[in-house]
Amino acid sequence: MIIDNHPFEVNDKGHLVIGGADAVELAQKYGTPLYVYDVNIIRNNCKAFIETFDKMEVTAKVAYASKAFSSIAMLQIMKQENMCLDVVSEGELYTALQAEFPTEKIHLHGNNKSLNELRMAIENDIGCIVVDNFREIELIGRLLKEYNKQMDVLMRVTPGIESKTHQYIMTGNEDSKFGFNLNNGQAEEAFKLLWNHEFIKFKGLHCHIGSQIFETDRFLIATEVLFQELKNWKNTYGFIPEVLNLGGGYGIRYTSEESPISYDIYVKELVTEVKKHVQMLAIPMPEIWLEPGRAIAGNAGLTLYTVGAIKHIPGIRNYVSVDGGMTDNLRPALYQAKYEAVIANKASAPPISEVSIAGKCCESGDMLIWDLPLPKVDHGDILAVFSTGAYGYSMANHYNRFAKPAVVFVEDSQDKLVVKRESYQDIISHDLSYE
Ligand SMILES: *Cc1c(COP(=O)(O)O)cnc(C)c1O
Repeated sequence: MIIDNHPFEVNDKGHLVIGGADAVELAQKYGTPLYVYDVNIIRNNCKAFIETFDKMEVTAKVAYASKAFSSIAMLQIMKQENMCLDVVSEGELYTALQAEFPTEKIHLHGNNKSLNELRMAIENDIGCIVVDNFREIELIGRLLKEYNKQMDVLMRVTPGIESKTHQYIMTGNEDSKFGFNLNNGQAEEAFKLLWNHEFIKFKGLHCHIGSQIFETDRFLIATEVLFQELKNWKNTYGFIPEVLNLGGGYGIRYTSEESPISYDIYVKELVTEVKKHVQMLAIPMPEIWLEPGRAIAGNAGLTLYTVGAIKHIPGIRNYVSVDGGMTDNLRPALYQAKYEAVIANKASAPPISEVSIAGKCCESGDMLIWDLPLPKVDHGDILAVFSTGAYGYSMANHYNRFAKPAVVFVEDSQDKLVVKRESYQDIISHDLSYE
C-alpha cells in the first residue's frame, strides 16, 4: 500500500516504510523525536533538475540552498549528485568545507555578509559571491585587492514587479531587504561599480522571488524583468551576461491541498523563456543557475515522534501531545505552516476522528498540526509527520533546553545515523560557572 500524496509505503505489519526501512523499528532503534530521510528521494530530486538541463543541452548549475538542511552527510550527497552549493554564513561554509565540498562549486549569499565571511569565502576560493548591497561591493573589492585574487560575482536584484501591471503579488518586491532595486536605478549604479572592476569578474544577475511557489508564471515574469535590464545594459554598456541565476522557491507538497509541478517542467519553461529573450537580444545563451532548497530535501524527510499525553475536551477538541514540537519544527509556529501525519504503527488503519497534535514546549502556539484525521491514538504510538526534510533540523532550536533530535538516512533499506542526538552535556557545554 502507498500513503496518499506522500512518497512512502506501508508494509504487511501495517507499519510506515521509509526508504525500505520500517519506521517503527527506526523509532525503537534511535529513539524519538527522529528525523529520517529517504536518500533516494534526495538523489532523484537533484537528478530531476540536472538531467532536464542536460537533455535540453543547456549549460547549467543547480545549487542546493544548504540552509534547507545542512549537515556533513547531506553535503556529501550533494557532492555525489554533482550539485553546486549555496551558503549564507560562516557556519554553512565551514560545514561545506568539512564535507570537502569542491570550493569552486560553492556560492555565498546573504544580505549582510560580514568582513569575516567574505574573507573566509575569498581565502577558500569559492566559486561565486552573490553581491547584495553597496557596502559589500566595497568590502569585496578591498579584500580581493588585499589577497590579489579575482572572484566571480553575481548581483542580486529585486524585480519589483508592480501588481498593477501584473496580477501577481511578487515577493521579489521593491520593499525588500534583499538585493539591488531595478526600478530606482540602484542596480544600474551597482553595475557600473562591478563592470570592468580590476578584481571582480562580474558574471550576471541573480534573483530569488520567494519560496513555496507553485506556478511557473512568476519565474517567467521575473526572467522577463531581468532581461529588460540586461537589454539596457547591453545597449548602453555592451554588457553580455554569462550567468543568469533564477534562484529557488519551487513548491513541494506538505498537504494534499498542494499539487506541486514536477521539477522538469520548471526547468523546461525557464529554459524556453530564457532562450526567447536571448534570441531577441541576439546574445549567446548564458549559463542558467537555479537554487532549490526545499525541493531537494523537503519531501525526502519525515519526523517520528512518540505520543504521550492525550487530552480530551468534550465537545471541543482532542489534544495529542508528542515528544517534540516547535524545537524540531518551527514552521507551524513561525508561519502557520501545515503538515500531514500518520500513525506509523497503524499506517493502514482508516481515520476515525480528528485530533490536534501538540508539541511539548511551554507555549500554546506550539501546535504541530490542527484537526488531523487519525485512527484511534494511544500512548506510545509513533506519529510520522511528512515533508519535514527542509527547514526542520536546520531551524531546530534549544527552547526549553530540549536536545536537538538525531538524523538518520535510509537508502535501499540500510539505515545510518548521520547526526547524533544531542546529550544533556551538549546543552550545557557552553555554560560557564559564576560561583
Ligand atoms: C532560501 C533561498 C533559496 C531556496 O529556497 P527554497 O524555497 O528552499 O527553494 C534559494 N536562493 C536564495 C537566495 C534563498 O534565499
